[in-house]
Amino acid sequence: MKRVIVVANWKCNPVTLAEAKRLFAAVKKGMEKIRVRGAEIIICPPFVYISSFKSQASSFKVGAQNCFWQESGAFTGEVSPVMLKNAGCKYVIIGHSERRRYFGETNEVINKKLRVAMDAGLRPILCVGETEEEKELGDAAAVLVAQLKEGLTGFGRKELKKIIVAYEPVWAIGNGNACGADEAMSAGVLIKRTLGELAGKKIGHNIPILYGGSVMPQNAAIYIEEAGFQGLLVGGASLDPKPFVQIVRAVRAGRH
Ligand code: PEP
Repeated sequence: MKRVIVVANWKCNPVTLAEAKRLFAAVKKGMEKIRVRGAEIIICPPFVYISSFKSQASSFKVGAQNCFWQESGAFTGEVSPVMLKNAGCKYVIIGHSERRRYFGETNEVINKKLRVAMDAGLRPILCVGETEEEKELGDAAAVLVAQLKEGLTGFGRKELKKIIVAYEPVWAIGNGNACGADEAMSAGVLIKRTLGELAGKKIGHNIPILYGGSVMPQNAAIYIEEAGFQGLLVGGASLDPKPFVQIVRAVRAGRH
């Protein structure tokens, strides 16, 4: 049985290394208690904490929340995927809606980031999702397809095997207004179909798709059991060890 993937996106939190270490240690302890075996846990802290967790991360993988689209050079303030790899990262989130919204990241920029991340040996987690306005205009499907096709332009089938996709409806992020299982499932089916067009049916079918958007212990299992997702991307609830561990307990494979 495939392991469920659970990604913790800490975003721009917490503000001290001491707090970050406490959170990390509490999550680790909680996972040990529930003897988590059926889930792959990926913790994505802010860049500055990544190297502090590398050596302690035996039960988790460490990921980044973003990266630049060049390996190195005169790009003040940027962090390259090669640096992330060398700091102990295995994964990188690319195209999160907050990057698209606050930092103007387009599908073209996201495509460049995915390319350099893949070349550096990181496993990218590509976030896609429609805004509330796009949903109301009836454009959600077209937006998702464009985000996938433009974001993944130039990727061969072998490379697409390594991608993880996260469906994160923007209107469901950070507000408790999670997407219903049926609606999430329709988006998941569309994403799978589009990945099948890009990578061939077999590979497309095996690309993991995560759900993200106000995941809590009470709703976590429906995305796996009812909506057919292969994992979750958790924002707010990953900043508190108790609900985060409860989420993992609710979805790990083999429990049901
Ligand atoms: C996110 O920002 O990726 C996210 C899923 O956040 P939240 O769980 O807080 O909605």
